[in-house]
Amino acid sequence: MARELLSSELEEFPSLHWSDIAPRVAPVVRSALEKILDTQNGDAVSLEEAYALAHAEGDDLLGLLTAADWLRAELSGNLVTYVVNRNINFTNICFVGCKFCAFSRGPRDSDTYFLDPDQVGQKAIEAWQLGATEVCIQGGLPHGLPPFYYRDILRAVKKAVPAMHIHAFSPMEIVYGVELTGMPLADYLSMLRDNGLGTLPGTAAEILDDEVRHILSRNKLSTAQWVEVIRTAHRNRIRSTSTMMYGHTETPEHWVRQMRLLREIQDETGGFTEFVPLGFVHQNTLLFHQGLARSGPTLAEHLKVHALSRLLLAGSINNIQVSWVKLNRRLSQLCLHAGANDYGGTLMEENISREAGATAGQYTSPEDFQALILEMGRIPAERNTIYTRIKLKSPLEDFTAEETLEPEFA
Ligand code: SF4
Repeated sequence: MARELLSSELEEFPSLHWSDIAPRVAPVVRSALEKILDTQNGDAVSLEEAYALAHAEGDDLLGLLTAADWLRAELSGNLVTYVVNRNINFTNICFVGCKFCAFSRGPRDSDTYFLDPDQVGQKAIEAWQLGATEVCIQGGLPHGLPPFYYRDILRAVKKAVPAMHIHAFSPMEIVYGVELTGMPLADYLSMLRDNGLGTLPGTAAEILDDEVRHILSRNKLSTAQWVEVIRTAHRNRIRSTSTMMYGHTETPEHWVRQMRLLREIQDETGGFTEFVPLGFVHQNTLLFHQGLARSGPTLAEHLKVHALSRLLLAGSINNIQVSWVKLNRRLSQLCLHAGANDYGGTLMEENISREAGATAGQYTSPEDFQALILEMGRIPAERNTIYTRIKLKSPLEDFTAEETLEPEFA
């Protein structure tokens, strides 16, 4: 059995190269990694080989991390991108009751809040003045929400700042909007798009396995519903991110199956802009306090999930994002050395992870991102939401250039 790596060995893996580690990697893991590196495609390995990668420990894990970093350099180069955005969680009132969520409140709690569409529009104006190109809008699901509330938020933001990209509403909120309005899903999504919805966050995915979902939240949308919302959005020219929450009750096999499911959808629609692994923040959650989950991911798991996603999604989803609010500064950088290429958004007022116990803060300025990226020897680049406009940033060399990473989505 492979030995468990020490934290210090994991901290130092960025100084290693795949070719140094390869001779020490077990044949089955090495062969699977070489198949992916040779083809630069994650579909080169079987399900069993993918499971072997997901269980890598010791030198095999070092092989996984260094191979993922090599592949990242091949597929995404040395840029680390980020988007200047503002997070707007317009209410914390929610009836769904997810056990991993410490953000939601019941309607009678003393610290509830609810923003009307004009207040959301005002926040968009402030964000635009601070250089944001995107607002990311999600909230709790309160009983009795006016049926067209999500549409009205879009209208208010577009009226306030017509050029702002609106990245909004989780698949769970979309299902709720369909229920409130009685509209067919495709018509509802088209209506939101025509009122300014740019892209959809692929959140509410957690683990796309109904047995696990039942433990996490009995009232959440099913795997089939999540897939239907995403497929229908993509078919209606609304791109989305894709996500996975790890480090709770799931197993490595769930990671592999989720990545393969996302590949299937991507093969069909091409609508995913990126994959975002979301480490479970356990401190203030019922899921942890009721003994239903482990205490979040280990360092090895954080690194492994980012590396595995680079490898298994190669040839399908090219951008792997670190969620800096759930990781600390050093861990974000380590994950960017383990296959990731995107820092996500500046956020301005992150609430959800902070309430669950994360301590990384609510805002990272563009200057902070640039310094962190330069510290890693990589090139900072501000992007738009869908990676079609990239502006290189380097205070050291004082250059700015325009480059396109992704084709426009037809
Ligand atoms: S994760 Fe979202 S849907 Fe679930 S309880 Fe929290 S706010 Fe509500």
